[in-house]
Amino acid sequence: MVKEKDHVNLSTCAKCGGRICSPVISVNDPLPPVEEAPDFCPMRLHPEEIQRAQEEYNDSAIREFARLASIQEAECYEITGEGIRNTLTRVEEIINFSKKCGYSTIGIAFCIGVREEARMFSEVLEARGFTVSSVCCKTGRVQKEDIGILPEEKIAPPQIRESMCNPIAQAEIFNREKVDLVVLLGLCVGHDSLFIKYCRAPITVLAAKDRVLAHNPLAALYASKSPYYRRISRKEELNITGKKIDISRKKVNEGEHE
Ligand code: SF4
Repeated sequence: MVKEKDHVNLSTCAKCGGRICSPVISVNDPLPPVEEAPDFCPMRLHPEEIQRAQEEYNDSAIREFARLASIQEAECYEITGEGIRNTLTRVEEIINFSKKCGYSTIGIAFCIGVREEARMFSEVLEARGFTVSSVCCKTGRVQKEDIGILPEEKIAPPQIRESMCNPIAQAEIFNREKVDLVVLLGLCVGHDSLFIKYCRAPITVLAAKDRVLAHNPLAALYASKSPYYRRISRKEELNITGKKIDISRKKVNEGEHE
């Protein structure tokens, strides 16, 4: 049960059309009042957080990074006589954004399951003049048993050695090599969480792993209206299978490799 002092109303942007935060109006027209937003709007629930976030952009590097990201965003569209059109793939977007930010050394944190894609991406970046470091999830070849995995919990049969995914090592290697930007390529759910927690370089994502859907996880949502994938929307009671693990309080040692 949620304790009274911990209770926070939750934002529900996913069920809103964004009419108040992103109104389609002239720059000369005033913004609509926040009071017209739904009760669950974070602009109404958390104005102090939004104000604090705004102050973060006063840091010149953060401000410039955000500015360039918005410029890059806009460059991914063009207005044509037939309407708005997308222009750049995500690979091109990453290349162009890196150049804008003055980033010449790119790290690729990849899953061994997409090593061929990592090789191709690495070659594309190198062809475009970047220096590339790539680190596979299995680096360190730590055995799964070392973190308490039982033999029958491995992917391979129990008698076969199996290296664990090692996102902390991937992150620390990039921290040591001081890459300018890290691109995630196919890290597993949870392993990506740890990588993001430990990596000090800015991180972006080329692809999220989906073993069934050719690494296009949104296809499950698009297909959820069809009979086959309708099952992902079935109604059921939330049945939590484990106790809550809190990794948020563990501080990463910022200065270790400086
Ligand atoms: S910020 Fe407010 S107006 Fe915008 S999508 Fe969320 S709830 Fe809707």
